[in-house]
Amino acid sequence: MKIKIAECKRMVVKVGSSLVTDEGRGLHQAAIDQWIDQIVILKKKGYEIIIVSSGAVAAGISRLKWSSKPQALPELQAAASVGQVGLVESYEKAFRKYRVNTSQILLTHEDLANRTRYLNARATIKTLLRLGIIPIVNENDSVATSEIRFGDNDTLAALVTNLIEANLLIILTDQDGLYNLDPRTNKDAQLVKTAKAGDDRLEKMASGLPGSHLGSGGMITKVIAAKRAARSGAHTIIASGREKNILARLVTEEKIGTLLVADKIPLDAKRQWLADHLNIQGRVYLDQGATIALLKEGKSLLPIGVRKVDGNFSRGDLIACIDPLNKEIARGLVNYSSDETNKILNNPSKKIKQILGYIAEDELIHRDNLVLT
Ligand code: GLU
Repeated sequence: MKIKIAECKRMVVKVGSSLVTDEGRGLHQAAIDQWIDQIVILKKKGYEIIIVSSGAVAAGISRLKWSSKPQALPELQAAASVGQVGLVESYEKAFRKYRVNTSQILLTHEDLANRTRYLNARATIKTLLRLGIIPIVNENDSVATSEIRFGDNDTLAALVTNLIEANLLIILTDQDGLYNLDPRTNKDAQLVKTAKAGDDRLEKMASGLPGSHLGSGGMITKVIAAKRAARSGAHTIIASGREKNILARLVTEEKIGTLLVADKIPLDAKRQWLADHLNIQGRVYLDQGATIALLKEGKSLLPIGVRKVDGNFSRGDLIACIDPLNKEIARGLVNYSSDETNKILNNPSKKIKQILGYIAEDELIHRDNLVLT
């Protein structure tokens, strides 16, 4: 498959701790400035970019003048809490020159595993992108207990890639990419230029390779992240964040680092995700207008097009859409519970607030969360 990086219009850029903090010496403003200079240019060219940045713990350790990374979780969390302030401040500073706004999003595993919060996080990030803001995501280290931790930001970056259906995940690290052997001990080690994301051999290759002493991942978490990103159709590039103009050069198709190719097109991936991960919790019966809007016009499902509700579902559940001939035509993640849907069906969206006293979304199922069956 011929991959055109320039056509990957929505991308997640993940930056590792050792890059952001100059190997633990403290926040590396010059490096952050350099990435942001490139990101602002890409944004002007129409790319949508989300940054997943590590470095909170490492920056905290350096601000607290600790000599090494602590082992105990509360100390790591305290360090993250101190460091996160400096981390976003550094990004803010870099963006301010260009009068581009940035925002901070801190996530835990629970936020993405719980479907309601999943929809909320997704709606927020998509809105930020629409407003031209470049969000900066990190794990919510200071509250995450071990069960709800991602543990490493490579995993977090892959899940964010799935969440907003980005086309590309760029993992910037302090190495040139994935090597077939450990380059520290093998003169013959060769950079893997391209491979299929999810190829089992990559995990074997990566498992012996070093990570930095500051981050929590290594090559193995990056290779697994690429496999995850590929589930929603995104390709991954692992490359050195120290290469000059790295992002701009990747987008002009320069071959740098390791490209791990997704073999599914995004729409199929989404269909599969909906099919694999969720059971149908209910049905809504549509009128002719809504059926045509979904099938022919590529529109979202509005409450006004629904005649009847069947089943007991909550916001974020998967439900089926049934046409007037009793045939399932689509499936999607619903924005309102079955009780709420029963109250607002047959009504224009502008009346939702009046009926329920609040409004989550105008759509019952947003087009982005819907697939035709
Ligand atoms: N969330 C952690 C931090 O910002 C880093 C996790 C990782 O090393 O990937 O310090």
